[in-house]
Amino acid sequence: MPKNIYLDNQSTTKIDSDVLEAMLPYFSEKYGNASSSEHIFGWESNDGIEEARVTIANSIKAKPEDIIFTSGATESNNMLIRGLIDYSADQPVHVITTETEHKCILEALKRNAPFIEFTIIPVTTEGIVDIDAIRKAIRKNTVLVSVIFANNEIGSINPIKEIGKICLEHSIAFHTDAAQAMGKLDINVDEYHIDFLSASAHKIYGPKGVGLLYIRRTKGKCKIIPLMFGGGQENGIRSGTLNTPGIIGFAKAIKKSEEEFETRFWKYLSLRNHLYYSLIERFSFIQLNGTNIESIDLLKSKYSSAREASKHIQRLPNNLNISFNGIPSLELMKNIKTIAVSSGAACSSNKQEASHVLQALQLSNLLIHSSIRFGIGHQNTIEEIEETISKFGLTLEKYI
Ligand SMILES: *Cc1c(COP(=O)(O)O)cnc(C)c1O
Repeated sequence: MPKNIYLDNQSTTKIDSDVLEAMLPYFSEKYGNASSSEHIFGWESNDGIEEARVTIANSIKAKPEDIIFTSGATESNNMLIRGLIDYSADQPVHVITTETEHKCILEALKRNAPFIEFTIIPVTTEGIVDIDAIRKAIRKNTVLVSVIFANNEIGSINPIKEIGKICLEHSIAFHTDAAQAMGKLDINVDEYHIDFLSASAHKIYGPKGVGLLYIRRTKGKCKIIPLMFGGGQENGIRSGTLNTPGIIGFAKAIKKSEEEFETRFWKYLSLRNHLYYSLIERFSFIQLNGTNIESIDLLKSKYSSAREASKHIQRLPNNLNISFNGIPSLELMKNIKTIAVSSGAACSSNKQEASHVLQALQLSNLLIHSSIRFGIGHQNTIEEIEETISKFGLTLEKYI
């Protein structure tokens, strides 16, 4: 029986065993509703949640009371964009965003027209947002700039700190979708002038169905209206019984990502770089999509730690996105069924649809339909990478 290899960690990740273990008591004996303030079952759940809130807030240098738990980054992004609408205002608000956002930002904006006007800023051919274009797009009614921290398809990391500074200078709120960045890159909401931030547990070895929206409330630059009304949980911003096991798991996953930051970071880079260099050595027609592959030696000589290095890199350490010069990626994947990767031709849904992110890089359709994304996880081994190189090698040889 051939062993399956999972290299689709930008899509979702395998839950860590100690994350699962931390969650289990909250499914069985600690099942109280965190809002039940009259008995021990409620207190127990509430204590767990508040402790989790502190752990998660500390990891991005936020105040615990500014963390709102949601069902995931999709909900957080919708909560912010849809919450911006002030139906009583006679003027629509204006939002600036980019071509390479996750669909949930772009679709939420489109659904909210005509209450929201928006400008979509182009990106460079490497997938980095053009800062000058942001400056030029600012209008009198601009209330929010929303820029993805690190892209889920091509791994490009945007200049978050500089964008935050521009927003601060213009008193515009700044949101970043950090679903891919949290746990892998350094995040500091004060230093980067972030007012809103979305994240999701299942992208960092936590459970599916739990995420957060960070909302800077002191000196907050724009208010949002809740998506859901009811019991008034989460300061009235997100009603509904809290997902206690999920939140406990989210905090444990964040804690582990901090404890293992150094080892995971260098491991991602070393496996990713080995995969890339081995493939291009044999198949020089392979084209890299997104920003450069950074050298480990160079990063180690320049920066004292993985955390320091993570502030300066321009590509997620565990992301590789390459095009195979017209060889259809879906055909390649059919031939290598035991290796789970994702294709730029079908990544947003089950329909065969060219990725809007790769289109934003001005890639030809031929290159988009021959693109594959490899997302490395900390559980992957060098043996699995060697097997991936060998299997892709054997299949690619049939085409040349
Ligand atoms: C996965 C992802 C989302 C959606 O998160 P869910 O928690 O699955 O809803 C949003 N943005 C980015 C960048 C992502 O990678």
